[in-house]
Amino acid sequence: MKYIVLMGAPGAGKGTQAKLLEKRLGLPQVATGDLFRHNLNNQTELGKLAQTYMDKGNLVPDEVTVAMVRQRLSQPDCANGAILDGFPRTLAQAEALDALLAEFNGRINAVPFIHVETSVLIERLLKRAEIEGRADDNAETIRNRMNVYQHQTAPLLDFYRNRGLLKEIDGDQSIEAVQETLRQTIESA
Ligand code: AMP
Repeated sequence: MKYIVLMGAPGAGKGTQAKLLEKRLGLPQVATGDLFRHNLNNQTELGKLAQTYMDKGNLVPDEVTVAMVRQRLSQPDCANGAILDGFPRTLAQAEALDALLAEFNGRINAVPFIHVETSVLIERLLKRAEIEGRADDNAETIRNRMNVYQHQTAPLLDFYRNRGLLKEIDGDQSIEAVQETLRQTIESA
């Protein structure tokens, strides 16, 4: 069983890299943002609840998010592990993940952190807004998502660094170069 936690600010390229890694590692990408968006498109109760938070760029409450991840990681395609993208985003979620993986007799193998300067991130997100038309990729929401990241998610970097799991990667390179570094990092973990 192998669990990889991809860390990085919004726009760092976690989704793009996770999709490429999926094929290489034969593990599914579990992206909480995608799961919420899927629920939202299907107008499920979970989707309707999540939308109120997502629209503003705020985090969906931990309890709701953890329950969704628990359900996803219990599915058969996650039997050998998963690439977590966008989860955990708070200390409480990180602790819940530890408890969850202990239940599955698994553990986190590596936490690659894709590092990109804030100014580059904002530029990328604004560009993505034009291309993909994501509702939460507008200037105001982007600013809030960056704030939320700094305050609620960035502290996780130290949490994983202290456990010797964090591997910093320069994310301001081509997609292929980042992928290659990621692959090497994971293999040597
Ligand atoms: P993302 O696609 O990862 O940028 O996520 C889009 C939005 O989904 C975020 O701005 C949050 O509102 C919500 N979301 C995604 N992952 C989480 C999480 N782990 N905890 C709480 N909210 C999340």
